[in-house]
Amino acid sequence: MLKSIVFLCISIVTVASSLAPRPPPKQKVIVTGAAGRTGNLVFSSLLKHNDFYPVGIVRTEKSAKKLIKKAGCNLESICICDVTALDPNDKIGGLEDSEAMIICTSAVPKLNKKSLLKAFLKVPINLIKGNKAFNFRELQFYYNQGQNPEKVDYYGQIAQIDLAKKIGVKHVVLVSSMGGTNPNDFLNTLGRDKDGNGGDILKWKRKAEKYLINSGLQYTIIHPGGLKDAPGGELDFRLDVNDNIQKSSGGMRSITRCDVAKLCVAALTACNGQSTSFDCVNAEVPEGGKPRTAEMALKDFLQSDKVYSYEERTGFSDGGGI
Ligand code: NAP
Repeated sequence: MLKSIVFLCISIVTVASSLAPRPPPKQKVIVTGAAGRTGNLVFSSLLKHNDFYPVGIVRTEKSAKKLIKKAGCNLESICICDVTALDPNDKIGGLEDSEAMIICTSAVPKLNKKSLLKAFLKVPINLIKGNKAFNFRELQFYYNQGQNPEKVDYYGQIAQIDLAKKIGVKHVVLVSSMGGTNPNDFLNTLGRDKDGNGGDILKWKRKAEKYLINSGLQYTIIHPGGLKDAPGGELDFRLDVNDNIQKSSGGMRSITRCDVAKLCVAALTACNGQSTSFDCVNAEVPEGGKPRTAEMALKDFLQSDKVYSYEERTGFSDGGGI
């Protein structure tokens, strides 16, 4: 008797659970530059997300190991691919059926150690002359062979956008940089040779942004200010357009990588099919208030009438158009 009651209960529970609505399956999101400092934060938060799961693209085996260690993922969720050698016609296993792609790749300027030594040796003379002791602008940078902004930030991003289109990705989130409206921004001078060639990282990033906008895919282009390695969620956000933040006086000029990663993930849930491009920095939390979440800040921005302009010039008094 007892046996049949237990059997009946088990049967009822089994039938009921098979009739209960199942949560929709998680959506696959490709994260490129996934071993980078912002990329791995995006990857890790998607790994913990209820609605999404990430597949990371990393440049080398060494980067794959770094990501596995940091995010605690397994090798199955990683593809190794140098985006400067990426042919969108290549078949890369594991990327099919992805809903979105978050691009976090970037050329990385390397410090020329000789220029650092020179700048240090100048400190006593600068002090005697009453100048600033250490002049950061005297430091020189270079890019590794074949890994310059034109190759990584332009052609590499174009290849990623083409790949996204080819495999049916609907939404591309691109982490770019603030300062793109100003051809004379200091960042453009990094890695430039004596003849004035090379560098131009913001110029190449902006060109890739225009390519994405014209691709027909849904896009979210994020231009962070200076990036900081500090916890996220402690400060509010300021979102604006056309480098207005750089042109205005006062306020913060930086944002934590954690908060940029939160904006990337928020773009997947808050944009509702709407494409957008914006600049972002952190902002002080108003007294007695609470910081907005990235999703709230992004929704507020989308409801504003601010539109990022990709016209040649947007209000700088020096230099030419891009
Ligand atoms: P990061 O740590 O420098 O990461 C860049 C990633 O790109 C690395 O993981 C690197 O791979 C990957 N990568 C480079 N070349 C590649 C290639 N050919 N193929 C595949 N992957 C490649 O990035 P971050 O400092 O967090 O910056 C994130 C974004 O914000 C970048 O676009 C950056 O320009 C922009 N940004 C930075 C600042 C700032 O203050 N630093 C300010 C505003 C905007 P490996 O790990 O293998 O090297």
